[in-house]
Amino acid sequence: MIDSHAHLSHASFGESREPLLARAREAGLEAIVNICTTPEELEIGLELAKRYPWIYNVGSTTPHDAQKNGALHFEAFAAHARAGDLVAVGETGLDYHYFPETAEVQKEWLRRYFALALECHLPVVIHCREAFDDFFDELDKHFSGKGVLHCFTGTFAEAESVIERGWYLSLSGIVTFKKSEELRRVAARVPENRLLIETDTPYLAPTPYRGRPNEPAYLLEIAKCVAEVRGVSLEALQRVTSANACEFFSLNR
Ligand SMILES: [Zn+2]
Repeated sequence: MIDSHAHLSHASFGESREPLLARAREAGLEAIVNICTTPEELEIGLELAKRYPWIYNVGSTTPHDAQKNGALHFEAFAAHARAGDLVAVGETGLDYHYFPETAEVQKEWLRRYFALALECHLPVVIHCREAFDDFFDELDKHFSGKGVLHCFTGTFAEAESVIERGWYLSLSGIVTFKKSEELRRVAARVPENRLLIETDTPYLAPTPYRGRPNEPAYLLEIAKCVAEVRGVSLEALQRVTSANACEFFSLNR
């Protein structure tokens, strides 16, 4: 299995990072895609990748920090993207749930990161919450590469718009929550070759770990849930999502 989205550089880990990585390997994780949201997190990620060649880094400012850090951090992320240190650009995107007032600034940085990804021939990892209309508008105008909607929680119609564009959907622990019936309907119908799974560690631990800090080992619970709603074996789901992650991020396993 491959965790397509975890924040391993998160400040909350510190000394607990090593045992967490050991548990991930025991749970069958063959790779983890580490999402770095500041240049400092990326420095930690690059160190991790040196020691553990199965950890890969992705970086950009998040939409939440676009106002505060957009200009401050862009050049550092751009330099690492150009140096070949990243397997994707992200997580960039739009979040109108928490920060509707910074919509224009979020769009501005989304466009800058789209341009960077095109320049470096990298895919993009997108965070989009309550902003799908504006997101697709920006995407259609400014980006021709491939991307993934991470931690997808949109409607079935929104999922179809993602698939139509040849993009990927990544499902997180939210799919295991009792109330996520529509998301499980999406999970059942996403074309096999467009599906990724992720933990979004340390956020959003799946059932039965809900409320605790999340970790990549819990990806197994997400894989089990998605396999069940799709009516396939756990092994088949693991194999397909792993192959998709390798293809999407161009991982050399
Ligand atoms: Zn994330």
